[in-house]
Amino acid sequence: MAANILKKWEKGHFEKVLGEVKQAGIDFSLENLDEIVEHLSCDIRKLEYPGRCPYYASGKGCHDLEDLNCFLCACPNYESERLEGGCKINSEGGKWHYHENLPLGRVWDCSDCEINHTSGEVREYIEKNFDELKKIFDSLVIK
Ligand code: SF4
Repeated sequence: MAANILKKWEKGHFEKVLGEVKQAGIDFSLENLDEIVEHLSCDIRKLEYPGRCPYYASGKGCHDLEDLNCFLCACPNYESERLEGGCKINSEGGKWHYHENLPLGRVWDCSDCEINHTSGEVREYIEKNFDELKKIFDSLVIK
């Protein structure tokens, strides 16, 4: 069976952004949480890594939020195990996007949802999932 591209993307996203934190010389610890969350913000990433998201070049983020943070771009409520995606909490901010070129003809679109995309929510998520994220961080080899 072919690997689910959403699931693959989600794993790659966390490795990429945690790799950026490591490359910046910031140790992944709860003492450094403010610095880590700031480094993951859209405002910093669009300056430091302008080519890593198509939205950065436009000067805007993918969600219309002042305090937009990129870490939970892979929202923990997203049903990434399903090829067409979906929302585990049926957020009213989400909607189906239809296109004939998509594998199942549609994919779940979160662009109007504000849940899990601010610094405060990212901070809470990192605190709750610290051990698991630390394992990923420690496994990353920076060249
Ligand atoms: S609709 Fe909102 S809560 Fe649901 S998966 Fe998307 S961003 Fe997360």
